[in-house]
Amino acid sequence: MGCVNHPNAPVAATCKSCSATLCGICTKFLDSGEYCELCASLAEATAFRKTRERNEEERNVVMAQTTTARITEEEDREKARSKDGLYIRGGIGIASLMLFVSIGLYAFPDLTKSDAQLAEEQSITLLTQCREVFQAIGIMLSEGETPDSTQSCPGTNIPNIISRRGDTITVSHPNPRQFGLVELYVTSDSHRVVMEGLGQG
Ligand SMILES: [Zn+2]
Ligand SMILES: [Zn+2]
Repeated sequence: MGCVNHPNAPVAATCKSCSATLCGICTKFLDSGEYCELCASLAEATAFRKTRERNEEERNVVMAQTTTARITEEEDREKARSKDGLYIRGGIGIASLMLFVSIGLYAFPDLTKSDAQLAEEQSITLLTQCREVFQAIGIMLSEGETPDSTQSCPGTNIPNIISRRGDTITVSHPNPRQFGLVELYVTSDSHRVVMEGLGQG
């Protein structure tokens, strides 16, 4: 058996995620291991999402600190007012608060991430979940069970398309185009989730 994409090329690696055999051209090297192109993009998207979640947590800490700073500043202003009417201290407090917030924005540019980027990440997340559904269907097929067409992917109510040819059962996604794919299916022959058309054209 050769590379999944180039059957005549010698196998250089096996995808850590889907176990596809890969030639040198098809192998993607990430810090976490060797992957096929699709699994590498999914792994990178997952890593990216984790970084974002971490940034979000840090941002919440900054927000909490900002709130604390504002309360302290209010108290300071009260003190200044009651003591000797030095209103200027409040002005300095607001200026330092604004500086603090702008440092926060600079450190966490995620706050200003465009809707298009968020939509793309969401689409990759959906595709990851969808692939898990199809992997589960593949396991059912490998155990000789007949899948249920209502076992659809998150983000769609349309049932999967089940077709039979001879002994082979194929379960296909009803709308792979939502992920920019030509085809997304699993068959009882290989049990492997096939995603065609990603990153091509
Ligand atoms: Zn893979
Ligand atoms: Zn190849």
